[in-house]
Amino acid sequence: MIVAMQETATEEQIQDVIEHLVRMGFSVHRTTGVRQSVLAAVGARVDFDTRNLEVLSGVEHVHRISAPYKLSGRAFRPEGTIIKFANGLQVGGSEVVVMAGPCSVESREQLFNVAERVAKAGARVLRGGAFKPRSSPYSFQGLGLEALKLLRQAGDRFGLLVISEVMEISQIQMMLPYVDIFQVGARNMQNFNLLRELGKVDKPVLLKRGIAATLEELLLSAEYIMAGGNYQVILCERGIRTFETYTRNTLDICAIPIVHKLSHLPMASDPSHGTGIRDKVPPMARASVAAGADVLLIEVHHDPDRALSDGAQSLYPDQFSTLMDELRIIAPAVGRKL
Ligand code: PEP
Ligand code: MN
Repeated sequence: MIVAMQETATEEQIQDVIEHLVRMGFSVHRTTGVRQSVLAAVGARVDFDTRNLEVLSGVEHVHRISAPYKLSGRAFRPEGTIIKFANGLQVGGSEVVVMAGPCSVESREQLFNVAERVAKAGARVLRGGAFKPRSSPYSFQGLGLEALKLLRQAGDRFGLLVISEVMEISQIQMMLPYVDIFQVGARNMQNFNLLRELGKVDKPVLLKRGIAATLEELLLSAEYIMAGGNYQVILCERGIRTFETYTRNTLDICAIPIVHKLSHLPMASDPSHGTGIRDKVPPMARASVAAGADVLLIEVHHDPDRALSDGAQSLYPDQFSTLMDELRIIAPAVGRKL
C-alpha cells in the first residue's frame, strides 16, 4: 500500500500515520521528497481497510497494491484452474462448455423435450431451476425435490451433467445426490453463510455476479467458498444493473477478460439473463466466446410462450442449434474448441 502525505503534512502527522501502519502489521519505507512524503507499507495482511488511513490528518491519498483476495487471485494458480468431472468433461480447459436448458423445471415432458434437443445440439450440461428466486412471491417458485429428480433422470438419459440453483443452506444436502454443479444465483452472491457451507462441499459451484457487484466483490465471494477448502469454483457474468432500460440487464462482456487477468478460476457468461431478450441472446453468446468465456449458460425452452419463468429470453431449440453451429466456427478462431 502506498500512502501519499499532503504537502502541508507536519512531521507529527507523518509519524502518526507510520505508527498506525506499524500497528496494522506493515513495515514502512519512507521517501521524503522535496514537497511530499510518501510511505510504502509492505506486509502480508490482506484484510485492511484503506479508509482507516484516508481519514487520518495529513493524508492525501491511499493506494492499495495487493489484491484483498488470495485464493481466487491469479497468483495463487498462475496456470489456471481446470475443473474435471468423472465423465471426462473439463471446465477451464480448451473446450468451451455449454450449459443449457429451461429457466425452471416445469414438468417431465418439458424437461425431457428440452434436454434431448440441447444434448443433440452439443450442450454438455443440463440447467434447470428447482428452487426459483423470483422477484415476486406470487410467481412460480419451482418444483423442488421433484425437479431435482427429473433433472437427474434427464441428464443421465441424454448424457448431460446437471446444474441447478441452491438458494439456502438447508437445500444443499437434498441436492447433493442429484446435481453435479451447484449454482449460486445473483441474489445470493453475498449470502456469506451459504457460500461458507458450499466451501465444505465436494462439488463445483458456479457463482453468479450480483446485479450490482464489482468484480472485486465477486472474487471475494469466491474466496468464501475456497476458504472452506472447495477450490472448484466457476465465476459467471450474468448482467449487471445499469441506467439502460432496453435490456433486462447489461451484460458486462469485458468482465470475462478482466476476470481471466485477476483470477485463475474459469469464467462463464449467461447471455440469457444478461439481456432478457431472446433475439439478443445469440449475438451476446457469440461475443462471449470471442471474449474468452470458458462456459456459456443459456436458457432454452421447447415452448417459451408458455414458460413459467423467463420465456422471453429462452431460445427455441432450433435457434439454439443454429447458435451452436456458429459457436463452432468462432471457438477455433480464439484457440478453443466446442
Ligand atoms: C437463473 O439462472 O435462472 C437465475 C435465476 O439466474 P440469476 O441468479 O442470474 O438471476
Ligand atoms: Mn432464468
